[in-house]
Amino acid sequence: MLAEPRLAEAQHRLGRALVKRAVLAAQQRVRAGELAPELVLDATLAALPDTAAASLHPVLNATGVLLHTNLGRAPLSAAALAALGVAAGTCDVELDLATGARGRRGRGAMAALAAAVPTAGAVHVVNNGAAALALVATALAGPGTGGRPGASREIVIARGELVEIGDGFRIPELLAATGARLHEVGATNRVHRRDYVDAIGPDTGFVLKVHPSNFQITGFTSAVSIAELSTLGPPLVVDIGSGLLAAEPLLPDEPDAATALAQGATLVTASGDKLLGGPQAGLLLGSRAPAPGREPSTGESGAQLVERLRRHPLARALRVDKLTLAALEATLAGPEPPTTVALHADPAELARRAEALAGRLRAAGLDALAVPSLGTVGGGGAPGVTLPSAAVALPERYAAALRQPAGGGPVTAVLGRLEGGRCLLDLRALAEELDEQLYAAVCAVPA
Ligand SMILES: *Cc1c(COP(=O)(O)O)cnc(C)c1O
Repeated sequence: MLAEPRLAEAQHRLGRALVKRAVLAAQQRVRAGELAPELVLDATLAALPDTAAASLHPVLNATGVLLHTNLGRAPLSAAALAALGVAAGTCDVELDLATGARGRRGRGAMAALAAAVPTAGAVHVVNNGAAALALVATALAGPGTGGRPGASREIVIARGELVEIGDGFRIPELLAATGARLHEVGATNRVHRRDYVDAIGPDTGFVLKVHPSNFQITGFTSAVSIAELSTLGPPLVVDIGSGLLAAEPLLPDEPDAATALAQGATLVTASGDKLLGGPQAGLLLGSRAPAPGREPSTGESGAQLVERLRRHPLARALRVDKLTLAALEATLAGPEPPTTVALHADPAELARRAEALAGRLRAAGLDALAVPSLGTVGGGGAPGVTLPSAAVALPERYAAALRQPAGGGPVTAVLGRLEGGRCLLDLRALAEELDEQLYAAVCAVPA
């Protein structure tokens, strides 16, 4: 069986063990009387995965949630995919081809990030947003940073900003795990400048402002602005989360790196795979000069701080690989990534796509209807914001069937949304070039 030309080709692509397992499984089905013997080859070929990473399946995101954590957050742009292809081999990630000497690792990605935020004095990239916070906390407030040998410092943070980011992970616990001490200020709903002033002392490592990127507190609330916090003395670190580099008019309440730096943040941290639309990464951006009002003794600029973080021993453990650097540079320097395109999609255009898809599905005999819908940004930012969208509504049973298409064929899995007893396929987060795949996936569901 393994010598059969099509299976030999498959072994070249997938490896012998994986193909052999598929053959054995098909033969087992013959012995069990489930499969006619002459169909062993066809069944084997149908059961073979597309890649040797057989546990990962492409999934069309028809949830209407732009950044779906369970679907890997931001999909990469075609430019980023092409860059991955270059980086995958041996490449000059840390070599200067002109001199033959060692070059600065990831200089292209750093230059692209610096160009995207011209007001930043220095930038660095680590594994993810959580890693960026862990590095800052360790270097500025971890054991050894305090007045006495081995002593740590305090991170001053508002109680309303002690965020759980997902899967049970919490920012306060992450910070505490570095050995830094947390000094919580204010109440859940309100915090004032006075609370911070009272908390700041010789033990303060830095003041941290965390954007509540996945929830909203409304009603009797108050917070202290970046501008006010920047004049208190200690370095001000602002975790904006989403990775917007400049203000986005569609999301007026979502913080961005350029504005946070302009308002006086010493250091901004953010994720690469949320609204930035790139690969998983943690961005660190430092201010050019110490904020006015900072005392000379604590007057290290964000740029100097970034340089210190870059040289910190822990930075080596949080280092990003060449694939991330390549995809990040291409995301920043190349055309708008799919997340940005989806955020800016015209609702009328989404409605037109939904009408077209539903019309074709009805013509094929299905119970499909184009309906207005509401998308969201997702856990990656902009809580409470809804994005007008359009969806194809199908009977409820389609949700499970689309998620698990009958094995083997060229049909892609689809994740939709259950709403009011219908399966909604929302087009907000789906690139238009995927409509054809979505149509094929729906048509492939057995009647
Ligand atoms: C998402 C998020 C994080 C964690 O970033 P990861 O890249 O997921 O590690 C931290 N802080 C905020 C405010 C976030 O929104």
